[in-house]
Amino acid sequence: MLATKQLQSNPSMFVFLPLFYTVWSDAILTPSEIATIEGLIESQQWLTKEEKTFLLSQVNPASPPSPDDLMNWREEIKKAADQTDGKSLVDIGFQIVRNHGTISSEVLKERSALANIEATLGFISHEAAYNFQSGKRESATQQLSTQKTFDIDALAKILDGKNAAIIRKVKTILGDPEFQYIDPGDLSLYRAKVLQWAHMLADQGFGSIAYPKEFGGQNDMASYFAIMETLSYHDLSLVIKFGVQFGLWGMSVYFLGTEKHHKKYLKDIGSLELPGCFAMTEIHHGSNVKGVETTATYDHASKTITVHTPHANARKEFIGNAALHGQMATVFAKLIVEGKDYGVCAVVVPMRDKKGKTLPGITIEDCGRKMGLNGVDNGKIEFKNVIVPSENLLDRYTMITGEGKFASPISSDNKRFFTMLGTLVGGRIGIPRAGLSASKSGLTIAIKYGDQRRQFGPEGAPEVPILNYRTHQRRLMPLLANAYALHFALQYLTNRFINRKEEEMQEIEALAAGLKSFATWNATATLQECRECCGGKGYLSENRIEVLKNDTDVFTTFEGDNTVLMQLVAKSRLTEFKNYVADQAKTSITELNPIIVRKTDEEHLLDPEFHMDAFEYRERDILTSAAKRLKRHIDQGMDSFDAFNVSQHHLVQVGFAYIERIVLEKFIEQVENTSDKNCQSILKKLCALFALSQIDKNKGWYLEQGYMSGAKTKAIRKLLNQLCWDVRQEAVPLVDAFAIPASCLAAPIVTQN
Ligand SMILES: Cc1cc2nc3c(=O)[nH]c(=O)nc-3n(C[C@H](O)[C@H](O)[C@H](O)COP(=O)(O)OP(=O)(O)OC[C@H]3O[C@@H](n4cnc5c(N)ncnc54)[C@H](O)[C@@H]3O)c2cc1C
Repeated sequence: MLATKQLQSNPSMFVFLPLFYTVWSDAILTPSEIATIEGLIESQQWLTKEEKTFLLSQVNPASPPSPDDLMNWREEIKKAADQTDGKSLVDIGFQIVRNHGTISSEVLKERSALANIEATLGFISHEAAYNFQSGKRESATQQLSTQKTFDIDALAKILDGKNAAIIRKVKTILGDPEFQYIDPGDLSLYRAKVLQWAHMLADQGFGSIAYPKEFGGQNDMASYFAIMETLSYHDLSLVIKFGVQFGLWGMSVYFLGTEKHHKKYLKDIGSLELPGCFAMTEIHHGSNVKGVETTATYDHASKTITVHTPHANARKEFIGNAALHGQMATVFAKLIVEGKDYGVCAVVVPMRDKKGKTLPGITIEDCGRKMGLNGVDNGKIEFKNVIVPSENLLDRYTMITGEGKFASPISSDNKRFFTMLGTLVGGRIGIPRAGLSASKSGLTIAIKYGDQRRQFGPEGAPEVPILNYRTHQRRLMPLLANAYALHFALQYLTNRFINRKEEEMQEIEALAAGLKSFATWNATATLQECRECCGGKGYLSENRIEVLKNDTDVFTTFEGDNTVLMQLVAKSRLTEFKNYVADQAKTSITELNPIIVRKTDEEHLLDPEFHMDAFEYRERDILTSAAKRLKRHIDQGMDSFDAFNVSQHHLVQVGFAYIERIVLEKFIEQVENTSDKNCQSILKKLCALFALSQIDKNKGWYLEQGYMSGAKTKAIRKLLNQLCWDVRQEAVPLVDAFAIPASCLAAPIVTQN
């Protein structure tokens, strides 16, 4: 085209070149593009009939330009683009005309018509013009990079708090070559390795650390949880093996037993001399623990208890440590005394001798390979009239008197049952903290990878780190904020549990159940997103997300199924209902103020007071409406079981709203109490990001309630994007502050970048 006679006779026709090139560059000229350009050409008064015919021939789909033509056009256009500051294809077109002669005033007059066509054809004009410019492009997306406005060690110190010394010790041990990962493919080798690791930890005194000093421990529950959390950067089978042995088995003896049991067992449990199990779940009874059918029948003549599995579906199932290593178990069974069923009790039952041989009356079956946690030997256990001395009854709450009568300090069966289970709340603290560590590992891998991995970029400029893309930021930054938020919330829960008073137990149990659910669901969601954010590389086993995902998946099920736990939280909150009624009226007046409902300025949207008000309003409103709904159903004669079932979805939301409020409240308190100004500033941003992303998630509800206008939820969305953009710049230092040992992050996508 460039050399043609027509063009030489009227160089003004070059003005069309950038347009032609751009429409042809995707190789397909659509009918509407043709029609638009034909219309433009026909309307140009300065063109002769022949010239119009010539130009129209250039947009004939039957005779497209050759690749060489296109390349020549591009050279011509690029030259003009570099000569002009023009930001549109028309400006570039004018420059080409100038390069070949003078530009006529008639053509100049057509500038706006030509520019209109550009818009009509849908070129993002600047972008199309940019693509022709050589040299360095300065896009904001490209320039965004990692910065650090705070001291990473100072933030790590804030996270570790009082447990820094024990955390450091565990990390040092994990860095020892003995703790190198092994291929989990061979089930028996993997299980043996995990047991060996658990012994090494017990030798360090980690297993017994929470037990009283007289039984080999240090009476230090806080360190126990910090150990669980830190081990969770390493192998999660090890964490669960550790938790089953020293937490579930040991703590059931400690909390449900009395001094005679502590003296007899605790030291050996803490040293792993006596491996054991926590045998509660049965094939037919998982979440419904009260329904267990295993019997523990007391015989006064022999002062013994007979533990028995009445049918195959009452076998204990999924029991950790059972398939291979456990020598004893705390067995949960119905206590039968003088023919009467006194509800669930716990009895210590020997299962294997020291050599690992199964004892008479006990049948154990291996659960086999699982989706994850294959270093833990889960098994099914059947008891055939296994007789144990009556001292084996863990008798803190359930006793048998010298006269052979049942006795208990708690007379109500229901209350006794829940008090018993309540003492085991520790597991619901250890598991979410382990899940959080796995989330932190996933986030560290995905964020460091995203900071380095480059895909696409402006034409002619280097490719851009994927973490600079807004969607990538929206996928990962709120999850990073969640990890920080949950860290402080779980620390709060741990402190409440350690310093508990009897009368606070019900609240602490609800808190643990809710945070366990929230944190483990969050771990599952976080690790899935991290996997996807690493693309195909995230799918390779060597990059660790696979194992983190598979091992933590069941965290949403064991230690209480999350959905079931959220209902427990709701039931506990309903007991608070009366206290809320009075506040509710006040809320409606102050918080549904039309000015606040529509307020969209940034200062207001970032104000922690606004966040707390919104979370508290949601919590109160959902709780109040759930309580009213239940009452209405029951008043109308509905069976209360049905009334709860009808309201179940609502009740789960009660649980969420409560937990979300607690998490925010603790995060805000942490920000206020942080004295290092730089750390405070980044934590404040993360806290706002947590708050706004939760509000955004629940915006449908806020809009339904009229608590926020559409303009306000839109403004929140916009601000959320901006916060993600800001936090992205510090995302790498923020994951560095998790201080996960390098040996645990041995993922090539992190280490080789
Ligand atoms: C790897 C692994 C290790 C384990 N280790 C142990 C151990 O060492 N010791 C031990 O005692 N147990 C252990 N368990 C058992 C675990 O605690 C149970 O799996 C858990 O309590 C859930 O019980 P379930 O599997 O029977 O599920 P179910 O109770 O049958 O629940 C199945 C589904 O039904 C839903 N559902 C149930 N009830 C309700 C309801 N009322 N309303 C609405 N939805 C409902 C749940 O949300 C869930 O989605 C382990 C399990 C696994 C998988």
